[in-house]
Amino acid sequence: MTAGLTLGVDIGGTSVRAGLVRADGEMPGPFLDVPRAPDLPRQLAAMADGLIGSASAAGLRVTGAGIAVPGSLDPRTGLVSSAPGAEDLLGLDPAGIDLGPVDVTHVVNDADAALVGEWWYGAARGARSALGVFVGTGVGGGVIAGGELLVGSTGMAGEIGHIPLLPDGPPCPCGGHGCLQQLASGTAVARWYAERTGESVRGASEVAAAAREGDRLAQEAFARAGQWLGTGVATALNLLNAEVVVVGGGMAAAWDLFGSLLTRTARRLAMPGTASACRIVPAALGRRAGVVGAALGRHAPTAVARAQPRQFVTLEHS
Ligand SMILES: [Zn+2]
Repeated sequence: MTAGLTLGVDIGGTSVRAGLVRADGEMPGPFLDVPRAPDLPRQLAAMADGLIGSASAAGLRVTGAGIAVPGSLDPRTGLVSSAPGAEDLLGLDPAGIDLGPVDVTHVVNDADAALVGEWWYGAARGARSALGVFVGTGVGGGVIAGGELLVGSTGMAGEIGHIPLLPDGPPCPCGGHGCLQQLASGTAVARWYAERTGESVRGASEVAAAAREGDRLAQEAFARAGQWLGTGVATALNLLNAEVVVVGGGMAAAWDLFGSLLTRTARRLAMPGTASACRIVPAALGRRAGVVGAALGRHAPTAVARAQPRQFVTLEHS
């Protein structure tokens, strides 16, 4: 297959990832993963220019672009209407960003994009029901139920990161308190460790390195996150009775440090019938899931199309 590449762009809280995606989920060109610049439209235009130029040089055609954003989209306007932790993106019109020769054909929430990527070509492939939990700077989530991405009345379904687990817990950018995200994100792991050691920690990957070298507090930081994530997953499983839970995002690279506790906690707390029926697995596409899902996101019912207020397309596996 040589034609019909789609540019996928995954805008994160602190990073931007992009690549060209074939209909079979493969990415024939480079995969870009860079810090997010203050002038995002200009940054995206430059990334698109480089990727599309390399495709043209190879005789490949790029037919459109999909953008994933770390927030919710107003289904009427297509503007970013909620972005806890990435408030600078509020009001952004992703579909209006000039990417040169290709149109932005659809925009989708980043966790939904990652789940769509995992659903089509990764760890949730073939499932009729799935929960995606993406743990990074925050905790994003998405739900597939009955073979369709769950939308919700305002496009916000699946936000497992904002399940309130500790009503008196730390405040969350969403306005709540003690959300799962505040207890078990990569940010929370790094913060918990830094508070107890007095060390300045740049992120969860540093804590993971310390944990693997035998640092007990670092190991405990991940164990706590695993237990909180398992509690959140148990809550979701009792509601969804999903076939598979896919755990992705940057912290999934430390699955060896929290995966078994997450799974054990979820199985202990969820109703036996839901827990036993469910596979809990790390994501398969890694950092690429959001880019693949953004490119394929035109199929997602939450995608906001450029020319229409909303695009509903039933997604079926071939
Ligand atoms: Zn929250």
